[in-house]
Amino acid sequence: MEIRRAPFRLKLINPFGIARSTRTHSDIVLTRIGEGWGESSPSKFYNEDPDTVMETIGKIAGMDLPDPDCVEDVADIIDARIQANGSAKAAVDIALHDRLASRLGVPLYKLFGRNPDKKMVTSFTIGIDTVDEMMRKVDEAKNCAILKIKLGKDLEQDLTVMREIRKAVGNKTVRVDANGGWSLEQARTALPVMADLGVEYVEQPLAKGSHEQLRELKKSSPLPIFVDEDSMVNADLPKLAGAVDGINIKLMKSGGLVEARRMVATARAFGFQVMLGCMIESNVAITAAAHLAPHCDYLDLDGNLLISNDPFTGSTCEPDGTIHLPSTPGLGVAVRPEYKQDLASLL
Ligand code: MG
Repeated sequence: MEIRRAPFRLKLINPFGIARSTRTHSDIVLTRIGEGWGESSPSKFYNEDPDTVMETIGKIAGMDLPDPDCVEDVADIIDARIQANGSAKAAVDIALHDRLASRLGVPLYKLFGRNPDKKMVTSFTIGIDTVDEMMRKVDEAKNCAILKIKLGKDLEQDLTVMREIRKAVGNKTVRVDANGGWSLEQARTALPVMADLGVEYVEQPLAKGSHEQLRELKKSSPLPIFVDEDSMVNADLPKLAGAVDGINIKLMKSGGLVEARRMVATARAFGFQVMLGCMIESNVAITAAAHLAPHCDYLDLDGNLLISNDPFTGSTCEPDGTIHLPSTPGLGVAVRPEYKQDLASLL
C-alpha cells in the first residue's frame, strides 16, 4: 500500500502542563493514502515518537494488505502483526476512512450511522501551571461552556486552584483530569472536595494499572470516575468492570476509528459512559474523532484549539466549544493555502 508520510511540528499557544510533563510543541506525522488524509500524534508515555511512527508506517506500507476499502480487515491484519504503536496505526486507519468515505461521496459520519445534529460541545483544557497562570488561562477561556482542569502534580495546589476556579467561573461545567498523579489516599482527600465544588467527573485519578485501588476508590467516591491511560484498546475494558463509571477513548491510543467504534460498543455493554478525547493534534485527527462524537457522551476534542499553526480546515468549533462537522465527503479536511508549501510532499 502506498502511504505517503511527513513529520510536522505543531506549536502550542501556551506551554501545556500535565501531571507528568510540560511541553511547548508537539511533533506529529501526517499521512496520505490515495486522497485520504491521516495523522499520528505520538506520545512518549505510550512509547511512541515521530521516528517510531515513521518506521511503523513503513512496515505497514510493506505488508501484503487486503482491499483498502475493507477498513476492518486491514485493521485486524495490522493488529495481528504489530503490537501497540496506536498512533502510527491511527495515521493509517484515519487516512483509509477518509479515502473510503470520499470515494463513496458521503461524509464519514454517515457511514457510522448517527446524525451529527445533536449539540456536541467540547471541553477546553487548562494545563498545570502556577495558580495565577492557571487562573489567567481560565479567564482567557471564559467563553468556553466546559472546562477540563489538569491536576495531579501537587495535591495542595490542586485543591487551592479548584477553589479559586469555582469562585471565578460561577456554575460553569468543570471536569478534572489527574493523569494518574494521585495516590489512593490523595484521591480520597481530593474527590470529596471536588464533589463539593460541583466538579462533574474525575479522569484517571490513580496511576495506570491500579485497577484494585480504583475499585476501592469507587466504592466511596462521591464523583463519577473515568479512566484514560487505562482504556487504550477494546480488550482493556472488561478488566475495568466495577472499577470505573466511564472511559476516555482516543484514536491515538486505540489505533484509529475501527477499534474506537468497537470500544464504544463494549463500553455500552458494560454500562460505561463514553468520553472522546484527543492528544495535541491538527484538525485531521480532531475531525476524524469528531465524526465519532455523535456516538459519545462527553467530548474533549480541543487539541487543535491549543495550537497556533493548524495546517487544516475541517471541523469547526464555536467560542463556547460547540463542534460542527463538515458535510463534504470523507473527513472533510483540507490544507489551508498558507501551509501548501510545507506539505507539498503530501499534495
Ligand atoms: Mg486524560
